[in-house]
Amino acid sequence: MYDLILKGGRIYDGSGMPSFIGDVAISNGRIEEIGRINASADRVLDVGGLAVAPGIIDFHTHFDAQLWWDPLASSSSEHGVTTVVMGNCGLTLAPCKPESRDALIGTFVRVEDMPRQSLQAGIPWEWTTHGEYLDALERKPLGLNVATLVGHCAVRQYAMGEASVEREANDVEIAEMEDLVRHGMAAGAFGFSTNANQRHYREDGKPVASRFAGLDEIARLCRVVGEARSGLVQFTHGAFASPEHVAHIGQWYDTILKETCRPLIGESIRHFWSEPDLWRKQLNDVEERCRQGYAAYAMTSTRRTLRHWTLKDSSRFDEMPAWKNVMTLPLDQRMEKFRDPQTRLELAKAMVESKPISFSRRWDLVSVKKTARAENKSFERKNIDELARLQAKSPIDAFLDLALAEDLETTFEDTATQGDEQTVKEIFSSPHVLLGQSDAGAHVANANPGFGFATTMLAYWVRERQIMSLEDAIKKLTFLPASIFGIHDRGLLRRGLAADLFVFDPTTIDLLPPEKINDLPEGASRYIQGAKGIHYTIVNGSVLMKNGAHTGVYPGKILRSV
Ligand SMILES: [Zn+2]
Repeated sequence: MYDLILKGGRIYDGSGMPSFIGDVAISNGRIEEIGRINASADRVLDVGGLAVAPGIIDFHTHFDAQLWWDPLASSSSEHGVTTVVMGNCGLTLAPCKPESRDALIGTFVRVEDMPRQSLQAGIPWEWTTHGEYLDALERKPLGLNVATLVGHCAVRQYAMGEASVEREANDVEIAEMEDLVRHGMAAGAFGFSTNANQRHYREDGKPVASRFAGLDEIARLCRVVGEARSGLVQFTHGAFASPEHVAHIGQWYDTILKETCRPLIGESIRHFWSEPDLWRKQLNDVEERCRQGYAAYAMTSTRRTLRHWTLKDSSRFDEMPAWKNVMTLPLDQRMEKFRDPQTRLELAKAMVESKPISFSRRWDLVSVKKTARAENKSFERKNIDELARLQAKSPIDAFLDLALAEDLETTFEDTATQGDEQTVKEIFSSPHVLLGQSDAGAHVANANPGFGFATTMLAYWVRERQIMSLEDAIKKLTFLPASIFGIHDRGLLRRGLAADLFVFDPTTIDLLPPEKINDLPEGASRYIQGAKGIHYTIVNGSVLMKNGAHTGVYPGKILRSV
């Protein structure tokens, strides 16, 4: 007699091995059996026709504050996420002395774009040390599992007070920081995070504390992780850093990797039209470190940065002078120019000459998002090249004729990042790149929130674009992060491992439109985003979410590395 049996699903076990149809039996929060199971259970879920996978592990979140008022870590729990890792980018709320609370809040407000009034009202500050923070959170109901990193900014602020945002540390201060990291690791943290991003400031305009650290300090703190023989180092230095900064931090990476022999997750690797070769160089650096024998990783985002615009009010073409000259004319003159064949020739020429800018200069990557007139509705979702073929016109004519027919009110869409599919495929397929840079819990005003990074992967990149098998995608969202972080009893469906699962329909899983709501403490607003096609999210053997709705249970645990 089992607690729960999932009957007849297609099992993607997280290893990347071929999927197969079978049952999963669960008791006491653990997977008991996988295969054909004839025994009975308290509860049997018929999951025929659905995919059964390990729960998603979101390894890059900033839920440090949100979990105090939102135990479901919404909207992550709606996307099959069963474990979140927080404390990334050097930012944690522990350790913290009472007099430094406001300084840590000021760091989250500016770096992670969270409203000050919500943090002030919502964080209960029942702790001083990192261990006390974990203990306090453990006393709260939690929907999903939570793992932490110890953040460098908090450690530095603790040891140095406001001097932490003014100067390098002395030997005594570094020794105290070592103790704080050692304590955090002993209490169960999964590693240490730091931040050398030159764009990261506190609310008062001072650079975040970790930016004042020298190599000696960083190396000594990372060495504590090495001594713990568990966990990893997470390092943020900025995607658009100068080549000098990248080279400088690269030497630090080499030192950290060599001295700790622990995994290091470094910068984000993405495709940008504005710097189309950057990703190759970044990936080469990671691969070179792996060739030398170090566990170097990078991460990437599954989200494409989509731009929506009309020819009425867009600055999207301002980098091309021929376009800018027309786009800055008053509306009636602008439309006149758009009708003029000579101007069209000039605009078409500007689209193809020289390299991509932050705009791709590719008509196949500009699509019709929303038409203004009903008679043009069939053009929606088509790209301009398709439209041109359909109408036997040149792309510039197809584009401008449609816009003019709708008084320039047609909404178009293009991508700024992750727009080149062949590149995305190479980045995503690299064994050194982790999928998911959700920043969940942060950047609350972003209308394109990151909670659904796994849903985007499974719906868009796997189903629609077919850049990777579902087996491989699941492995990259589960077993890979679990292994690198050392969460060894999760991320795989195997007898004896924790029963964190997510059951979805691969043919329908997708994002729902983002919504703006006012549910943060003190009524501040944020964007949330649900999913469709996700039938069950199961945490430690209990059904947490069913068809997007919370079932009322709180089976989540604080995960500890020790
Ligand atoms: Zn971050």
